[in-house]
Amino acid sequence: MQCYRCWAEIDLSALRENLAWLRHRVGSQVKLITVVKADAYGHGLKQIAAFLMQSGTDVFGVANLSEARAIRDVGKGWPILMLGACLPEERPTAVRDGIMPTISTLDEAREFSREAVRLRRTIDVHVKVDTGLARLGIPHPSAAATIAQIRRLPRLKAAGIYTHYASAEDDPSFTQRQEARFRIVLRQLHFAGIRIPMVHANNSAGILHAPQTNFNGVRPGLLVYGIVPRGGRPLHSAELNSIKPALSFRCRIGLIKDIKKGVSLSYGATFTALKKMRIATLTAGYGDGYMRAGSNRSIVLIGGKRCRILGRITMDQMLADVSSVPTAKAGDEAVLIGGQGNDQITVHEVARWCRTIPWEVLTNISYRVPRVYRGVEAA
Ligand SMILES: *Cc1c(COP(=O)(O)O)cnc(C)c1O
Repeated sequence: MQCYRCWAEIDLSALRENLAWLRHRVGSQVKLITVVKADAYGHGLKQIAAFLMQSGTDVFGVANLSEARAIRDVGKGWPILMLGACLPEERPTAVRDGIMPTISTLDEAREFSREAVRLRRTIDVHVKVDTGLARLGIPHPSAAATIAQIRRLPRLKAAGIYTHYASAEDDPSFTQRQEARFRIVLRQLHFAGIRIPMVHANNSAGILHAPQTNFNGVRPGLLVYGIVPRGGRPLHSAELNSIKPALSFRCRIGLIKDIKKGVSLSYGATFTALKKMRIATLTAGYGDGYMRAGSNRSIVLIGGKRCRILGRITMDQMLADVSSVPTAKAGDEAVLIGGQGNDQITVHEVARWCRTIPWEVLTNISYRVPRVYRGVEAA
């Protein structure tokens, strides 16, 4: 590992345990739509897809067609659900490649049906119901009627119906309202004699806080990667003990130097030493995806000790206070996310320091950072 300046280590055995936990938690009757959008939350789409194909997922959830294509390159035949809206010019490819699109309007469904007829294919689609997120989906009051029309279109099959929660980790009453709206649509379809095979609503937070809406499919993202979404709603932490973060983010000490009282650090001189200090220049910056918002706020692990980031984080480098780590030397490892010695820096901590959310911390890790795989299936 010592040849890298800045890298992300992905522990596949943690990923496997998280999957096993999810499988156990939702039961064997519930399909896992594993969400691998945004390069598998920064973990590397192709490697993670290959791993998931071996260790048990049912469907892949992606944001766009190039992600779907990457999965097809790894292995043929896996069901792929595109969670984002399909652009008009992407429709022929989606139909040809058998990617399941998310349908939000009758018009979209008509266009897919037309394309499927033209290409002499049948296309499976998942119809989305907007119950309150207001991003994609048929507005819930008209959903059942629209779905009845969609079902009559040639060469198009409604293989799934789903909705998405706006704040499952924070707001039980908003989530309940969304659940109630979705259930009304499901009941209306039932009375109309319409049966759609797959029904799903829960993201990671939904799986934890609204297990009654696991239906027969769930769409975990963050939990797969071992991060527990935390919000205003309390969690029973004991049962989450086996969830383990798969990713750690590491760099090196490029240089150590002693500075005198009064010396200011980095661009904008936003930090000035009030006493003499020992400073480490680290080989990672915002160009690697460590957010600049953590300037003068973030903490890293060096020699197993927590060290503050001082001054502005720059594109390729940042400065850490190693006054309390006398053994620190050039070449040593510094941990931005993950464990070292007996301590661990969590994605949640980094998100707080950088004033963002765990999803953004992970997906921000840039293309420049090599992903290194360890654990059971690492090849
Ligand atoms: C990203 C996404 C998910 C996964 O969300 P997590 O909070 O990471 O579990 C599930 N469903 C949809 C529609 C999504 O866009």
